[in-house]
Amino acid sequence: MAAADADNHIRALQLARACIALGARLGTVVHVTGLRAALLRTHFFRNGGSVNGRRPESSEWIHCGNILTRAEASEFASVFSELRERQRCAPADALVLAYRMYADSHAGRPTLSFDRAFSLVCQLLGIWQCSQSSLAMQRCPRCQARYLAEIGAPPPATGCVFCHLLHRYSLDPRVKAHFLGRQATPSRMPRPGGDPKKQS
Ligand SMILES: [Zn+2]
Repeated sequence: MAAADADNHIRALQLARACIALGARLGTVVHVTGLRAALLRTHFFRNGGSVNGRRPESSEWIHCGNILTRAEASEFASVFSELRERQRCAPADALVLAYRMYADSHAGRPTLSFDRAFSLVCQLLGIWQCSQSSLAMQRCPRCQARYLAEIGAPPPATGCVFCHLLHRYSLDPRVKAHFLGRQATPSRMPRPGGDPKKQS
């Protein structure tokens, strides 16, 4: 194996390890790293792990799921998109970094699984499992937050998911309890390949 090929292979294995540490199932790691399933099983899934984990469901949850899940999907997607736009991170690096930041901001108990975050990236960029983009980031004309929406969808008349969340916060104890249990969201963007915990 040539030196450049060896470097690429090592980087793919490191990426695989990072994805698995964040809870990725085998099929997701195959897509993200380009490594063969048999090789990944040998290195990382000897004891079963998430080889047989559930595949992500249809994307209906993005539009019809509960408000906390939809808000967290937009939160993850917003960080992912910032990493892509400002730091020009490759999709796989941005997925791992954005998910780490998102999970850290939820005290290690995120509502969104890594596989669901992967599914969002597929639909945002039209890569891996998806042949074309079906989702995009929109800016809410009411609160100015960025949120996930179907490509071409008009701004919702009653505001985005964050507008609704703000309205529900003082009325719904479940929503309030969810956010009171969170840590502060990291304010700095990590460098690609770096450990965000070491950069604060
Ligand atoms: Zn809004």
